[in-house]
Amino acid sequence: MSPRREGVPLHIRNSQSIIRKRLSLYIHIPFCVKKCAYCDFASSADSGIPLDEYGAGVIREMELRAASLGGSMTAETLYLGGGTPSLLPPELVARFVRTAVECYGLVPDGEITLEANPGTVTGESLAGFRAAGANRISLGIQSFDDRMLATLGRVHTAREAVDAVAGARSAGFDNLSLDLIHSLPGQTPDAWREELRQGVALGPEHISAYGLTLEEGTPLQRLWEVGGVALPDEEAGALMFRMTTDILGEAGYEQYEISSFARPGRRSRHNQVYWRRDPYLGFGAAAHSFLATPSFGRRWHNPHDPLEYLHFLAAGGLPPEGCGELSREDAMAETFFLGLRTTDGVDMERFRETFGESVGEVYGPEIESLLATGLLQRRGSRLAIPVPLLILSNQIIVKFV
Ligand code: SF4
Repeated sequence: MSPRREGVPLHIRNSQSIIRKRLSLYIHIPFCVKKCAYCDFASSADSGIPLDEYGAGVIREMELRAASLGGSMTAETLYLGGGTPSLLPPELVARFVRTAVECYGLVPDGEITLEANPGTVTGESLAGFRAAGANRISLGIQSFDDRMLATLGRVHTAREAVDAVAGARSAGFDNLSLDLIHSLPGQTPDAWREELRQGVALGPEHISAYGLTLEEGTPLQRLWEVGGVALPDEEAGALMFRMTTDILGEAGYEQYEISSFARPGRRSRHNQVYWRRDPYLGFGAAAHSFLATPSFGRRWHNPHDPLEYLHFLAAGGLPPEGCGELSREDAMAETFFLGLRTTDGVDMERFRETFGESVGEVYGPEIESLLATGLLQRRGSRLAIPVPLLILSNQIIVKFV
């Protein structure tokens, strides 16, 4: 045993066989210019923490985690999410990328995604992010309607969103994703069709189209509760979901997950890692990690509060892990819960290899009843929800949890 590995818990040592092969990396940037009215993500507009101080903490965590895991690793993707990573100076992004290469063997053709919000980028900063190594950009456009953007509390206008796309292209990003949201206050299916039309017209390689979820305690939820805004009813929401599949399909985008649409070959490599239960390490406040070993896997997350997170790193150690080893039952349920979000569905052969039993032995009655009602399809060695029924995925997935 190398001296560096002494004292490393057995379950972490055992995980090395997985992480040596391949893994993905996530860095959470929990800062925003202003909190949006619908947002309950781990982000804040008034943390008072300088970005360089936070960035130094993240790099320290990356180094400490690599040392604790030991061995050689091969990272295939790096995703900077938030929050608003486009608030970072490009030099800090470059340092994150360098650390990912040095500590985790980030491969030269790795997918490096930076989430960016219009209104926080300039031609210069976008060129800086590209030069720093980011090769994929995900723009949080959400809507092309300025009144809607104001209702959502976004910091940008539709014009700035269009300019951000043009700026990203000029900076050399040839892999660009747009986020759009439907079922917004007062939104009609016709208005959503127009949003999709404008999104497609910008020619992104990827579109993420989410239905709005009203999160408890957000300003938008409180406004809705007192009748200040009205949301489309269930029928209109379902229509917008179907329209998304149809319109983006006609425009050449393949739906590969409930909310994710890609041109051929342009799926998000990083996000697919989550749905396949492949290993990833998350760095930064509130970041989550998953290793597929020991046994049936282990998930943990960092403290949500950035100050608390930095405090532990300043004291010389990794932050404590909100941690849990998964039981066999948890892991099997996760395989269905995550896999059925995707159009590839659940790989039955991989399930048998992982758990030593077939899906039929574990979930026979559930699967048979869903196949009989058409809510599930068998495609070769895979089980998947038919694309038009993905909107019902929550009701279907619950059968396996
Ligand atoms: S920009 Fe994104 S993370 Fe930040 S407050 Fe708005 S929705 Fe939340």
